[in-house]
Amino acid sequence: MCSCPNIQFYEVEFKLWGMQVVPTHKNCGDPLTDEQATKFNKELTKMWNME
Ligand SMILES: [Zn+2]
Repeated sequence: MCSCPNIQFYEVEFKLWGMQVVPTHKNCGDPLTDEQATKFNKELTKMWNME
């Protein structure tokens, strides 16, 4: 699991892990924790709402 303190949305990519797609941190190559994924989803929603 990724343990980076601050993750920007542009540093996240979606990778296929087994049977599911998991948000992954590009910088370290590790999947996001649940907490990070939740935060990332919020950022993404915020971004989409602005457009
Ligand atoms: Zn990371």
